[in-house]
Amino acid sequence: MAEINFKSTEDFYLEVASLRGVDTPCKECAGLGVKTYGSTATWRGGIGGQSLTSGVCDKCWGSGDEHRKWPSHRLLVKG
Ligand SMILES: [Zn+2]
Repeated sequence: MAEINFKSTEDFYLEVASLRGVDTPCKECAGLGVKTYGSTATWRGGIGGQSLTSGVCDKCWGSGDEHRKWPSHRLLVKG
């Protein structure tokens, strides 16, 4: 097995992003498609109830790619 050795956290994220087929890693989530929100709010501003909330990235909507966004959940919400 090849030894996995990343020079930096950024290298690690770039590697993970490339494994996901991401060409241009999203700046918000570093290509992971998810990010941790450091507040009690959920992505729509509701009450989350936890100090850290993990959720789909609100910039790329989970694709991890800045230029190939997945559809926003907000498009599905009527109101
Ligand atoms: Zn993102």
